[in-house]
Amino acid sequence: LSERLGGVFDRLTKQGSLSEEDVKTALREVRVALLEADVSLPVARNFIKAVEKKATGAAVTKSVTPGQQVVKIVHDELVSVLTGDEDPGKLKIDNPPAPILMVGLQGSGKTTTTAKLAKRLKERDGKRVLMASLDTNRPAAMEQLAILGSQIGVDTLPIVKGEDAVAIAKRAKTQASLGGYDVYMLDTAGRLHIDQELIAQAAAVRDVANPRETLLVVDGLTGQDAVNVAEEFDDKIGVSGVVLTRMDGDGRGGAALSMRAVTGKPIRFVGLGEKMDAIEEFHAERIAGRILGMGDIVSLVEKAQQTLEAEQAERMMKRFQKGQFNMNDLKMQLEQMQKMGGMESMLSMMPGAAKMQKQMGEAGMDDSILSRQVALINSMTKKERANPQVLQASRKKRIAKGAGLEVSELNKLLKQHRQMSDVMKKMGRMGKGGAMKQMMK
Ligand code: GDP
Ligand code: MG
Repeated sequence: LSERLGGVFDRLTKQGSLSEEDVKTALREVRVALLEADVSLPVARNFIKAVEKKATGAAVTKSVTPGQQVVKIVHDELVSVLTGDEDPGKLKIDNPPAPILMVGLQGSGKTTTTAKLAKRLKERDGKRVLMASLDTNRPAAMEQLAILGSQIGVDTLPIVKGEDAVAIAKRAKTQASLGGYDVYMLDTAGRLHIDQELIAQAAAVRDVANPRETLLVVDGLTGQDAVNVAEEFDDKIGVSGVVLTRMDGDGRGGAALSMRAVTGKPIRFVGLGEKMDAIEEFHAERIAGRILGMGDIVSLVEKAQQTLEAEQAERMMKRFQKGQFNMNDLKMQLEQMQKMGGMESMLSMMPGAAKMQKQMGEAGMDDSILSRQVALINSMTKKERANPQVLQASRKKRIAKGAGLEVSELNKLLKQHRQMSDVMKKMGRMGKGGAMKQMMK
């Protein structure tokens, strides 16, 4: 696909400005790209119309080719459609105990996502969370949540045989109040297909719990079906956000665009695997890049410039010149990378990166490594960050434990830091950091 688009854009490159014909030709390919990414037809059509308006006659800036310009307009439009809440990862959980209702089809990942979010709330926000399974159809489903709960150290409501979903919801509410919990999460039963009984039950639970958030969990691989499901749930139950699961697979993320365009509901989180840490808040840029699936150096450069604030860069450079590069510097760099949408998205913007990405995947390097490394640095004291040499076995153990990770992960991080620090020192010696300045431009 990238190749096909590449061809069109190469032809565009030879010319000076964006004619209507150029844009039409390029957008025909973009439309195919969208459909291949599972974006529904009407959504793709509307999207193309919007881009066409913006692109035709747009002034071509000197620094980019017309082809790149169209890509950028398409990319920006995707991001603007996909962007929902200001802060998708922030759940409304004031006024404890705050109920969160999880709904969705069977197998979409509700139970897994419930536990992932509970872990996140516990670790990031220091919240006390109670989880309750309302899946009375399948006793194993209740067990599943209890097992996950004990894995992540989050309480689950004791299972009482013979209760119906509404009764469990009521009990969860009472227990959450009495037990002084900040949040209680209701993991509902699903069906293979949407039906009236399922909806009626979810609605009854909603009326009892009065949830602050109702999160619809949708399998990111289902593509177009996802839109119908989202519409139905939102219509009948009211949804405050969507969680897209299985985005670690080869789903192209088109469902995200369709769902957002059709229901107007924000995508809040993205599930990236079966492990309890495999969730992150939604990044419009990442999904946009994925939907397009094409090399785009222009936006990579742009984003790098935006996120690396000039002042920070200046301060960092001064330190590097003196041969100083501590954990705070490393943390800043890791966070910078996260802001840019992570390694994968940075890679995906470089042409021919698919292979590299695959190699990284095989080497076990994925984006969760960034957040794990930041977590490790976060659990160091100020002194340790400024001076990582002081880290002895007992400190290492404490830090790893604080981040919920193994000491071996911490050792990897320290090694990486040492290597980078060596490089920085060398560069610092190279004429007043001229090389560094070049790099950061
Ligand atoms: P539920 O029926 O909606 O509660 O779905 P479950 O939470 O039981 O998940 C069904 C299966 O999907 C389980 O095997 C999960 O481990 C798996 N799963 C859930 N979320 C993800 C994800 O983001 N990525 C991957 N690869 N698997 C997931
Ligand atoms: Mg379940």
